Amino acid sequence: MTLTEKDSQYLWHPYTQHKTAQAPIAISRGEGALLWDENGKEYIDAIASWWVNPFGHSNRFIADAIYKQLTTLEHVLFGGFTHEPAIKVAEKLMEILPKNQQKIFFSDNGSTAVEVAIKVALQFFFNKKEKRTTIIAFENAFHGDTFAAMAASGISFYTQAFQGMFIDVVRIPVPVKGQEQESFDALRAVIEKHDCAGFIFEPLVQGAAGMVMYEPEALAKLMQICKENNVLTIADEVMTGFGKTGKTFAMDYVTEVPDMICLSKALTGGTIPMAITTFTQEVFDAFYDDDINKALFHGHTFTANPTGCAAALASIELLHTEEMQANIERIHKSHLDFQKKIEKHSKVITARTLGVIFAVEIKSDSEESYYGSMRTKLYNFFIDKGVVLRPVGNIVYILPPYIMSDEQLQKVYKTIEDAIEMV
Ligand SMILES: *Cc1c(COP(=O)(O)O)cnc(C)c1O
Repeated sequence: MTLTEKDSQYLWHPYTQHKTAQAPIAISRGEGALLWDENGKEYIDAIASWWVNPFGHSNRFIADAIYKQLTTLEHVLFGGFTHEPAIKVAEKLMEILPKNQQKIFFSDNGSTAVEVAIKVALQFFFNKKEKRTTIIAFENAFHGDTFAAMAASGISFYTQAFQGMFIDVVRIPVPVKGQEQESFDALRAVIEKHDCAGFIFEPLVQGAAGMVMYEPEALAKLMQICKENNVLTIADEVMTGFGKTGKTFAMDYVTEVPDMICLSKALTGGTIPMAITTFTQEVFDAFYDDDINKALFHGHTFTANPTGCAAALASIELLHTEEMQANIERIHKSHLDFQKKIEKHSKVITARTLGVIFAVEIKSDSEESYYGSMRTKLYNFFIDKGVVLRPVGNIVYILPPYIMSDEQLQKVYKTIEDAIEMV
């Protein structure tokens, strides 16, 4: 039996209707931007395996750091104990995060990073005996699949089975070009009408919505409105963090600073699941009290896993090498050239680029759903050609590992051009 055949006997995959889905491809090896399946077929990983892998598969530098940590201290509980890898990660983040971030809290994945931020926003006001129980989020946001993260997410079929079981979330339009005023007005109206604790947003790029982009000035304006009304701001940088937008964090483009930041995905270079939520001193101080009831009673068994911390440290070191920064710049320029070329195509609605993120919207006769027929056609075409791309409806995006070569990148572009001709 092949791995693929054995898989169907036991395994339940994410976001998959097993009755109608094609069998998954068994990957046996990865190196750099490439993956190989069990039959030896080669694939270019043009989405960095769900945006986690900036430095390539099986990266030796990170692997060595992990091995060294595994054979020194693989794990120790973080309740009542601490360790150097966690402290080093904190010190490193203090150097590179917006300056108002002062405290860091570890968890395991993007959803838990968001879960922690939302719980902190709600308890912040509970501790101050102020009734504020509503969270504000963008339409079509994606913040993860645990309950509070789902509540804040707007992609309907991910969450439709659970409607009516969520915390209170009110949605405002994303301030994309031409819609800024509508977004500002909606935020003011929501704050007027509800007791708002926090506003959570994906800064500058909404990943799962199909790389929807908006300007830093618009976000700054929304954040100012929140500040004027004592609504806490939560930047979900789970996707955008660690260089994807061309700067270390998307918030580096924005003049306002958030109260909390959620990090995961590329944090460990795509090796070990880990997440971090960061806070201002002011947020932390609302929990700092002689009264034990004001503490944050939240934790995960693997909180601040030393091996994960070692992977994060190695990754951040790689990110800030001249070579990696040059790679980000190179990919960005290459995307801009491709954008200029492709946006004139008669079947293209629009194309957009920020940092290493590129997206193109393809014209379609019918309203395209997230997992609609055009999406399936495109996905299969890409896989057949040996390129891993997961279109969102009629939107094809590229989010490559930063080490992807020009030649590989050109092959990805060419495959997208061919796909546009095909549909
Ligand atoms: C992926 C993602 C999450 C959820 O992260 P998981 O690790 O999948 O739980 C949250 N927010 C954003 C912006 C994401 O892209």
